[in-house]
Amino acid sequence: MKKICLAILVLILGTCFSRNGYSQETTWIKPGIHTFEVPTDYLKERNEIPEFWVTTNDEVNNFLDTKIKKGKVKQVGTSAGGRPIRAVFYGSPRKGDGTSTYSGSLGYRDIKAYRGPDHEKTVLLAMAGVHGGEFEPIMGIINLLSVIETGSDLRGTEWEQYDELINSIDRIIIIPIMNPDGRNRVPIRMSPHSGMNHKVIEFWNTGGFPDGRIIGWPDIKEHIPFDFTTPKFPGGYSNEAGVNFQHDDFMGEIQPETQALYDLSAREKPDIILNMHTGAVFPKIHRTFLEKDLNSVYDEIYKEILTGWTLAGLERTNDLDRETNPERSINSPFNLNSALSMHCGALTFTMESPSHGFSSTRDEEGEMIIFTPEMLLDVQLIAYQKTLEFLAESGGLSKWRPSKNK
Ligand SMILES: [Zn+2]
Repeated sequence: MKKICLAILVLILGTCFSRNGYSQETTWIKPGIHTFEVPTDYLKERNEIPEFWVTTNDEVNNFLDTKIKKGKVKQVGTSAGGRPIRAVFYGSPRKGDGTSTYSGSLGYRDIKAYRGPDHEKTVLLAMAGVHGGEFEPIMGIINLLSVIETGSDLRGTEWEQYDELINSIDRIIIIPIMNPDGRNRVPIRMSPHSGMNHKVIEFWNTGGFPDGRIIGWPDIKEHIPFDFTTPKFPGGYSNEAGVNFQHDDFMGEIQPETQALYDLSAREKPDIILNMHTGAVFPKIHRTFLEKDLNSVYDEIYKEILTGWTLAGLERTNDLDRETNPERSINSPFNLNSALSMHCGALTFTMESPSHGFSSTRDEEGEMIIFTPEMLLDVQLIAYQKTLEFLAESGGLSKWRPSKNK
């Protein structure tokens, strides 16, 4: 009843006056169980959305239902808002006959005690959409699925390099949208490119006020859970309980999405967990707060992935020494990646993509640096290729950790 009254009110008023005096047409949207007032022009979609840009809950579910033939699609959890969290599984799982906890195996100095007799199996878990307003990783992971299923991405480019690679890894698990509540809350498919103005993209991603001002990063993290009784739009970070589970209460009361990841990673014991986001000027990976032996492994994979991006012309310069130096890596604070790593031993890290919706920078000639949708797709598929290569060649956690008991 209250929401109907509010809707009538907005029909009568039509505009919302901001503090600085300009008027802004607003629209009420009702994504999920909450209703929000947002600027009407923020809802504008890009004129031509490429066919490979598959990012909404409906588009992704349709893809999983119709295009996955080699993999197995399973629900691995349910979001706080009651939405299924779905994953695609390839290869054969570990049997999981370990005799100790992960921490126990560190004390015993042999990961085999945790992972069991088939500890040398290699397992990759990749997830996108922990933040529902970050579309590039969802698009990228769907195209990865297309490459695994057909050899080509959804724009038709063949990725022959992947063929052998996929078969050289024992198990691959892919979660296209980890936070379907957050994705549902952001009611657009693809924003127009707005030059150097990041306001609209940031509004959808990190929330904002009815007059269009953004809450922004990192201010949106000041309040977890988000208070849905305010007139503010929360952005795509949080689930329907208002929690951005990238920063969940990991040792206390955890969200169902975090629980689903704990259960899945305890069962599958991945070597690497990729947590794919949008939020960089040029594509980057960020170092997780990790158990110390894993840091040198991170340095190695940093070099591999950044080499792939630099050689493809996707970094600021072509200077390999500069771009692949792991000392340049940003350090993330304790977050979901750390919790998962300490739960199951995996090397975990966040990957940050540039955005389709704005340019963050100009080059030396003063030109705006635009990542086209095709470049954003390449960023994603090069990162997966390099990660799979690294896992296949290095042999995973059983090889990374020196064992005194073998
Ligand atoms: Zn993010």
